[in-house]
Amino acid sequence: MRTQHFDTLIIGAGLSGIGTACHLMRDCPDTDFAILERRQQIGGTWDLFRYPGVRSDSDMFSFGFSFRPWNGLKTMADGESIRRYIEDTAAEYRVSDKIHFGVNLSEANWDSAQQRWQLLGERSRAAEEGGNAVIEPVRFTCKVLISCTGYYDYQAGYQPEFPGMHDFQGQWIHPQHWPQDLDYGNKRVVVIGSGATAVTLVPAMAEQAAHVTMLQRSPTYVLSVPAEDKLTHWLKRWIPEQWAYGMARRRNITLHRWMFKAAKRWPQLVRKLMLRGVRKALGEGESTAHFTPRYAPWDQRLCAIPDGDLFAAINAGKASVVTEEIDCITENGIRLQNGDHLPADIIVSATGLKLQLLGGLALKLDGETVDTRNRLTYKGVLMEGVPNMAWVFGYTNAAWTLKADLAAGYICRLLNHLRDTGQGQFIAVDNEGCMGDTSVMSALQSGYVERADHLLPRQGTRYPWKLLNDYPQDRKIMLEAPIDDGILEFSATPVAENHRAQEEAAPTG
Ligand SMILES: Cc1cc2nc3c(=O)[nH]c(=O)nc-3n(C[C@H](O)[C@H](O)[C@H](O)COP(=O)(O)OP(=O)(O)OC[C@H]3O[C@@H](n4cnc5c(N)ncnc54)[C@H](O)[C@@H]3O)c2cc1C
Repeated sequence: MRTQHFDTLIIGAGLSGIGTACHLMRDCPDTDFAILERRQQIGGTWDLFRYPGVRSDSDMFSFGFSFRPWNGLKTMADGESIRRYIEDTAAEYRVSDKIHFGVNLSEANWDSAQQRWQLLGERSRAAEEGGNAVIEPVRFTCKVLISCTGYYDYQAGYQPEFPGMHDFQGQWIHPQHWPQDLDYGNKRVVVIGSGATAVTLVPAMAEQAAHVTMLQRSPTYVLSVPAEDKLTHWLKRWIPEQWAYGMARRRNITLHRWMFKAAKRWPQLVRKLMLRGVRKALGEGESTAHFTPRYAPWDQRLCAIPDGDLFAAINAGKASVVTEEIDCITENGIRLQNGDHLPADIIVSATGLKLQLLGGLALKLDGETVDTRNRLTYKGVLMEGVPNMAWVFGYTNAAWTLKADLAAGYICRLLNHLRDTGQGQFIAVDNEGCMGDTSVMSALQSGYVERADHLLPRQGTRYPWKLLNDYPQDRKIMLEAPIDDGILEFSATPVAENHRAQEEAAPTG
């Protein structure tokens, strides 16, 4: 088996992997790097999820890359437009050719004698006409590894076991594996769930289905936002387009940050305002109880909907919401604990994601598996005690890309620092015993975060081990604060090792 060596390897060609690669092209032009991607297409999340209506729930001005702003007027874009935006960005920054598709990595081992990462996995090549897909083992090495693998398991979503679910005679679907030929015209659909996926699916399916019922155990905050940014549309007539989009981005980032802060500071007031919005949007006789959560706003991610589309579907009688526990699944529907029965031809289990770290690969240091649960995160980008590795993890309380962009900017500064100082290795060392007990996703109290607590790296008791989750502060620290802060330790790569690395460097392909 041939080994291919690169200075830097990025795992994942989703929003984070492509964003990081663009930063490398721009800010570290001398770095020889490649992207290893398990799928056969760019896009990650936005390639995988194909259910009706799939869209962002962040506003696109904040969700787009800082270096290539989203140029559109829709506040929340559909999945395919986001996938194309990522693909176009990759083409514009000339990173498309650096992607090795079909490479599924299973192990990353840091070899401290060689001072390099060894990556093992399999490459699958699409089947030629009439033949089978070819799968072959692959091995890569690199000096610096950047994980852009997202945060969930692509193989399967979270599927709780409901009593009787195997007796159901209709179609049972998880949104992560949507059958593209599903015909739901005039069918009775029940969507189990109350998160972003459920509130997207219900109005989208209600257009064709006989009726769609959203069945939730407990309510979520649902906030109607304008589908189009009319102010930016108007401004574009008077000032250059790029200025208008730039202004919209700054405005939305600030507005969102204020909203989050206000929700934390005055939860009762924000709750009252949000519930007032629901009251106004729902028709006479519709109960607001289904949209009145027990928790405070932003304790869990809240669901934004464009132009109140979910409320419109309910008001039109095409959709309804039921808040009740499931007793069991029957042959033709769902029996509830209050004794009611919801008839269904199709059940969509919008029950969420299964969290997974590093795309499921085994992380090792000299052959010893790293227990990520016992590692601190440094600035949310490095892992304590793990050399020459970064992982790009976005915000969970704001648009993911805002933090992913900052993380990529920081990684470029770090790589340039290594080059300028002639160092070959960096490692974050906690000399002061800062271990805390909250995970890197503790800003959210969602079920899927709690289920994965045993996997997630920890935050420390103070900065830089503690996450700030605040864009302007993070921006300053990631893009301006000195790289050499006394916590990161550096060491040189042996000269002989440098020579060997250059000799083995292989072309991409
Ligand atoms: C339906 C849905 C809607 C969302 N909407 C929003 C939103 O509106 N706003 C927001 O901020 N966030 C949203 N998110 C979160 C979203 O996942 C992130 O915003 C963002 O897309 C993550 O990008 P990423 O590149 O980090 O990860 P991903 O998109 O998950 O991409 C990871 C890539 O790494 C590859 N990979 C993983 N493991 C391996 C391996 N071992 N070997 C090789 N390749 C590997 C995967 O194949 C994939 O292509 C949403 C998530 C979902 C599921």
